Amino acid sequence: MSHLAYLDPTRSIDDRVADLLSRMALEEKVGQMMQLDASGDLDGAVLHQHIGSILHTSPERIIRAQELTAQTRLRIPLLVGEDCIHGHSFWEGATIFPTQLGMAASWDPDLLERVARATAVEVAATGVHWTFSPVVCIARDLRWGRVGETFGEDPYLIGELASAMVRGYQGKGLSDETAILATAKHFAGYSETQGGRDASEADISRRKLRSWFLPPFERVAREGCRTFMLGYQTIDGVPVTVNDWLLTDVLRGEWGYTGTLITDWDNVGRMVWEQRLQPDYAHAAAAAVKAGNDLVMTTPRFFDGALEAIRTGLLEEQDLDAAVARILRLKFELGLFENPRRPDSARIQAAIGTVEHTELNLEAARRSIVLLRNQNNTLPLAGGLTADATGRGIDAGTGRRRIAVVGPLADDAQTHLGDWAGGSGQASWLHRQPRELITTVLDGLRAHAPTDWTITYAQGADILGLAEDPEGAFFPDGQPRPPVVVASSPDEKMIADAVADAERADYIVAVVGDRIELVGETRSTATLDLLGGQVALLDALASTGKPVIVILLASKPLVLPASALEAAGLIWAANPGMQGGRAIAELLLGLIEPAGRLPISFPRHVGQQPVYYNQIRGQHGNRYADLTQVPAFSFGEGLSYAWVGYEALTLDEDQLTAASTLRATLTVRNHGGRPVRETVQAYISDTVTSASWADQELKTFTQVDLEPGETRHVRIEIPAAELTIVAPDGRRVVEPGEFELRVGRSSREQDQLRRGFTISRE
Ligand code: BGC
Repeated sequence: MSHLAYLDPTRSIDDRVADLLSRMALEEKVGQMMQLDASGDLDGAVLHQHIGSILHTSPERIIRAQELTAQTRLRIPLLVGEDCIHGHSFWEGATIFPTQLGMAASWDPDLLERVARATAVEVAATGVHWTFSPVVCIARDLRWGRVGETFGEDPYLIGELASAMVRGYQGKGLSDETAILATAKHFAGYSETQGGRDASEADISRRKLRSWFLPPFERVAREGCRTFMLGYQTIDGVPVTVNDWLLTDVLRGEWGYTGTLITDWDNVGRMVWEQRLQPDYAHAAAAAVKAGNDLVMTTPRFFDGALEAIRTGLLEEQDLDAAVARILRLKFELGLFENPRRPDSARIQAAIGTVEHTELNLEAARRSIVLLRNQNNTLPLAGGLTADATGRGIDAGTGRRRIAVVGPLADDAQTHLGDWAGGSGQASWLHRQPRELITTVLDGLRAHAPTDWTITYAQGADILGLAEDPEGAFFPDGQPRPPVVVASSPDEKMIADAVADAERADYIVAVVGDRIELVGETRSTATLDLLGGQVALLDALASTGKPVIVILLASKPLVLPASALEAAGLIWAANPGMQGGRAIAELLLGLIEPAGRLPISFPRHVGQQPVYYNQIRGQHGNRYADLTQVPAFSFGEGLSYAWVGYEALTLDEDQLTAASTLRATLTVRNHGGRPVRETVQAYISDTVTSASWADQELKTFTQVDLEPGETRHVRIEIPAAELTIVAPDGRRVVEPGEFELRVGRSSREQDQLRRGFTISRE
């Protein structure tokens, strides 16, 4: 046992933190607050800047970093962080699940928890202690490039799914070797962009924050999410990183949050060079420390800045102590002083991409697909097949079929994975995930259609090319500036080849959407169109008169042409991950049932932004002079292969108090010949409110499995205490009066049964 108290595991964490803190020199405290990119000068960062944490590290650099730590005076282990946001994104061969938005379509917290647990098992084995996930931002303006990283547009659904992921990542507790730290990001309001532009000023009031943006963060704070990442943007002139109201009054004060805060990428430096809110790094560092930031991500000049701030009296050394103590506490809780959790090759071998994780990934992909249109029951193809022992469809005497698979994304492996997945550009050490681990739609149909069916493939269109940004290849801070997208022109020869295939086929499966160049940070889009030759291709396919099934592989909702909206079949599969192509093929062939529901609405036109369902009442009229405001598809929508009827919604009681619980029953009946997993959604409308409010809000949902012909009673329970609005003074209150419960298969009025009730003052 060591004579140094902080190295003695029998002591309390409080004692160990206090002891270590008392031994640290000023430079070591400043460095402890820093997280730097491991691809930079690692020796300098660890040995001279005494950094506390690294991110974006290749397998070799983790080992090197730990060798370096062993040479430091106090041997404080490093926290290793990474963006493992739908699987261990940058680890070759790891299980890459559908994107967060794709998985949100499952509306299944339990599934998300299992995905996060599997991710944690893979991540932890590789020496990474911390994932910067989940994203708890609300998607609003769909032009924003990061919509696909979110759980969609509804605060309640986001809160439920995000908390499930937090439980999965953090597992049984930090001392468990497979637990990793979760991060709720990007706190808060980052997604309320102007014009969809990434990190632009969020024009958002405190009441609006409290109404929609903060509740899912509060939910994950209550779930014990150990870290919060602070967004890039300014709100009402103040960067989140120094926003005292948000960080001190709300997060630490009202919510009593004791976890660790981390800035986003160079938030502190950006106040100097980008937002021009601080004259130099000393002032920026002082402001960041005083506002309560713990870890400062990728601001190398924080080191000199903070030291200078202390020299000149802008900061006192003890101003650093609370942050340093919180970081050290995490390290002690993870047990890193005893076991720095180095990459372990036996565990890596046993954990990465296991059969169980691959099966879970397939389940996640199956659940993430949303069937939006199925004209004349075109799907499942040939009336639906059964599978043989290998999972291949068997043709039950319907005869051989020919499927023309067309489209630029049908065999585009990277698009199946989406952003933050190796080939998405953030990792210099991994250019793409191994192709053989990814099943594209084309692969899936080839592997799962009956052996005597013919599958042809024609690309049919290009989407885009790239050109250097006219402003130069790098941003002022040296980060690479993404090239600009140049949409491809329709190519007559490619279209003609696709049409020739299509004309000989029984069915056309057209796979279109967006590509990584149109997705992610700094890649917001001005339009939501299918770019390049895709619309011309779909139009040409429609004119063949053959049944066209459009598969939309799109990171976010796009605006679709009539040839897609009126196609025989339309499926949105977001970026469905490594097993996505198989899941889609199975769905087309009727080997599985469609169960996904939209976590986000689809507009008809980019100019309809925003189209989220829970909008505030009071607008004059409800349409544009030249266009409806009704979205193409609304939050909650999604078809099954059988029709489910909703009947007989009754309330146990229609006179409630704020202390009681709304209880209702309804009947759902499967009127079709195939099983269904139905997502029964319950919305509340508060009839008269003292301040403007959304017409309706999702309050709960439940999933029910129904065999053909089966009827079930569904119970709904919502505590009246949750039927709140945010009053003008910022308090959440239940306002007595009339309410309406709306239950149905989606947020659309025509899909809902309604019952009124009142909440009285007593
Ligand atoms: C993103 C974060 C991410 C971080 C580290 C930032 O640019 O906004 O979501 O976690 O980089 O990669």
